Amino acid sequence: MLDSKATKLRIGVLALQGDFAEHIHALERADQDVTALAVRYAEQLVGEQAVDALVIPGGESTAIAKLVDDGSDPIFDAIRSRGLAGMPIYGTCMGSIFLAREIEGSTQGRLALMDITVRRNAFGPQRKSFESEIEVAEFGAEPLPAVFIRAPIILKCGPQVKVMATLAEGIVMARQDNLLVTAFHPEIVDDNRVHRYFIDMVRESLKRDGRTNPAPETAQRPCDLARSAS
Ligand code: GLN
Repeated sequence: MLDSKATKLRIGVLALQGDFAEHIHALERADQDVTALAVRYAEQLVGEQAVDALVIPGGESTAIAKLVDDGSDPIFDAIRSRGLAGMPIYGTCMGSIFLAREIEGSTQGRLALMDITVRRNAFGPQRKSFESEIEVAEFGAEPLPAVFIRAPIILKCGPQVKVMATLAEGIVMARQDNLLVTAFHPEIVDDNRVHRYFIDMVRESLKRDGRTNPAPETAQRPCDLARSAS
């Protein structure tokens, strides 16, 4: 919720796996009205103390999928419920895989919130990681530095998904209403336009909700997280 004393936006960064610390720094560097906090428990997404938005960092999607498939941590249902209720969520690299409805050739656990199909490790192994400059129309003429680390590519999008940036290989940035994904890692470059864009999404969502963004007291629907068949 909006911190009533300091009126700061409270943006959580999922801290179960991956480079969450870099996102916490990037969010606070991007906007002094943001408090960024590590999120590890379902309680941080529910009720009065709930975060206003969530970043899912880069990392290893098969590692977080194991936690989903284990089925014992209520945090994934809590994220999914908040996402369905309109909470802004931004997934970076692994985070984009975790948000995707379809992962090519895989049934690994995921949130399945966003109508995209992704291909994991689309550019090859770690040593094929690279830095590039991409064009993002929303950010004006100045190209955006983009670091790709064992990055996925978005192969297909549903009709309500807006493509925001592409490389020859496919889509690398996209938005579906309250959901934003990048295949690259803006948290490790100085240019903070992606984080500022996401923070604007959070402000818009709070404004739309009359500066509050009520979190459901409990998960509102049974978990239908995509899980592996095994
Ligand atoms: N290759 C990783 C995966 O499939 C993602 C890499 C990243 O997040 N930098 O989960």
